Amino acid sequence: AAAMRHLPYFCRGEVVRGFGRGSKELGIPTANFSEQVVESFPSDISTGIYYGWACVGNGEVHKMVLSIGWNPYYKNVKKSVETHIIHTFKEDFYGEILSIVIIGYIRPEKNFDSLDALISAIQDDIEEANRKLDLPEHLKLKEDNFFHMPESKLVNGH
Ligand code: ADP
Ligand code: MG
Repeated sequence: AAAMRHLPYFCRGEVVRGFGRGSKELGIPTANFSEQVVESFPSDISTGIYYGWACVGNGEVHKMVLSIGWNPYYKNVKKSVETHIIHTFKEDFYGEILSIVIIGYIRPEKNFDSLDALISAIQDDIEEANRKLDLPEHLKLKEDNFFHMPESKLVNGH
């Protein structure tokens, strides 16, 4: 319930380089938001895995899973926000504007004993996101005007 309080949450910002944790090598690249965008999130938003919709520039709206976690660059006192878009892109899109709406919470952050366990958890997350986002009430948000006004800096509360 605490995790849902801020949802749906609309957010837009530039895609920056992450920590090179090798997400892409695992087949699950995550587009990282800048520190400034992360700072604009509600400070009490729960860390963990979420699902929602995402759009790069003026592109199509795709399903996504998102992690809000602790940022190792800042000794885990700052959060990081990373979006894995459930779509195969031809090219990287660093520097582009990513628009997202976060709709639902999947699970808290976890530590895994092995890489295989981590990958299989993420595959479960993606499956759950896929299923939830097919619900009519979620499909409505895919059509939200937010995704069609890229000039606006609209973020919840601004
Ligand atoms: P970094 O540590 O720089 O974030 P990643 O391995 O997490 O590196 O890869 C993220 C980058 O991959 C994104 O910034 C984006 O440019 C690119 N990318 C390609 N396909 C996707 C996708 N489906 N979802 C998210 N990012 C993607
Ligand atoms: Mg990343």
